[in-house]
Amino acid sequence: MIKKLLPLAISLLSLTITAQDALTSKLYETYEKYKEPSLEKRRIKHNDLKPLIEQLKSNPKFEVQKVGESIEGRDLNLISIGFGSENIFLWSQMHGDEPTATQAIFDIFHFLDSPDFKEEKEVILSKLKLHFLPMLNPDGAEVFQRRNALGVDINRDALRLQSPEGQTLKRLRDSLDASFGFNLHDQSRYYNAERTEKPATISYLATAFNYEKDINDVRAKAMKVIVFMNKIIQNYAPGQVGRYSDDFEPRAFGDNIAKWGTSLILIESGGYPDDREKQEIRKLNYVSILSALYTIATKSYENIPTEDYEKIPKNDRMLFDLKITNATYGLLGKDYILDLGIMQYEIDKKGHNDFYYRSSVSDQGDLSTYYAYETFDATGYKIIPPKVVSMETVSSPLELLHQGIAYVKGKLPEEGAYVEMPLFKVSETFELGDFNLQPGVNPTFFLEKNGKLTHAVINGFLIDLNKPLENQETGNGLIYR
Ligand SMILES: [Zn+2]
Repeated sequence: MIKKLLPLAISLLSLTITAQDALTSKLYETYEKYKEPSLEKRRIKHNDLKPLIEQLKSNPKFEVQKVGESIEGRDLNLISIGFGSENIFLWSQMHGDEPTATQAIFDIFHFLDSPDFKEEKEVILSKLKLHFLPMLNPDGAEVFQRRNALGVDINRDALRLQSPEGQTLKRLRDSLDASFGFNLHDQSRYYNAERTEKPATISYLATAFNYEKDINDVRAKAMKVIVFMNKIIQNYAPGQVGRYSDDFEPRAFGDNIAKWGTSLILIESGGYPDDREKQEIRKLNYVSILSALYTIATKSYENIPTEDYEKIPKNDRMLFDLKITNATYGLLGKDYILDLGIMQYEIDKKGHNDFYYRSSVSDQGDLSTYYAYETFDATGYKIIPPKVVSMETVSSPLELLHQGIAYVKGKLPEEGAYVEMPLFKVSETFELGDFNLQPGVNPTFFLEKNGKLTHAVINGFLIDLNKPLENQETGNGLIYR
């Protein structure tokens, strides 16, 4: 009898997996239809969410409750949908500058509201009741910073509970007593999947509930769902999933919520090539979360072995934005071979709605164990110090770059710290000091091969001098007053 039943069970299991694969590929392909168009940049504010939440209030499918206020008095809303007996709790942007999942949550609302995917949604909403708390730290989001208005990291306030945002999260956790919790964050774009050049575009963690990192039933369930999500994301971002460190942090919410009996899934949105605003990563969040809800509703995850969780590569932090390898660098009359690791850091513009770049040499020397979003092999190229000229108006930046000029003396605009073109605007009194590459300096120089300048590096962006500037990502120049 058993012999006969077993193949049947296996074929039923593979049937559900195929059905799920079909669902997730459909989710990915049809995504644009459900994407909330007003949230296309990362620096979103509470005011951007307000009209969207008002719409949900007048939609009978959703229940919207004000559940608290931030220190500066911005509403915290819980948005619920579903008729199931099992509560699922998802919260995002506890860190104000980590908005990717907040955007994905509003895409998920459009999906849930649409007439499409009827069967799948019936399964999810009949078994589960979903509760979303988007943007837990609106005061931090206002100025695009991690911490709240009190200057504390809400994710270190789970025990002391001084922040009203943390108090709200704790109260909801206790009243919902959810089976699964989704703790939604962004991580550094410089994380990679261990020992690979692939960025950790998405990282997962089945959060530990003690220092010993024991695996109980509650944690095992989170691991299984993560293995399921990983398999799906591998289809769209192969090799770009990492496993976040499971070191126990006694003050953090995830760790305590796991301890209090909720299977806790941390999702971290990292970096993706040519996707500074993380819109592809937002899409992966959408697919990942909806697939997870489906497998939780159908309980299909239960058969997944927890051991597979450990097979997901760990997060590592070995990425630069730009890596220049084997360049020849002259110092005090002698030549040396250098690799340069360059970071293109973001500086917020006034109002925290946008940013410009201020880059930095992060490391130099033998960087063969590191990776980068862009790598240039400078074997046979010599690093040439930049020159300065006086000039009132710049008509062709590329022409100046061809002459090895990176700094232009002249009248400066009244205010501001950057210029759109890849050049430095400097004051009349500016003096170009001795050229000395060190970690921490702004990477601005030229590359020469066979006696000819071929590339410029301006404020950390590599520019091919044989191509029009319009066809390249040239970042921005800076103003030195
Ligand atoms: Zn975070």
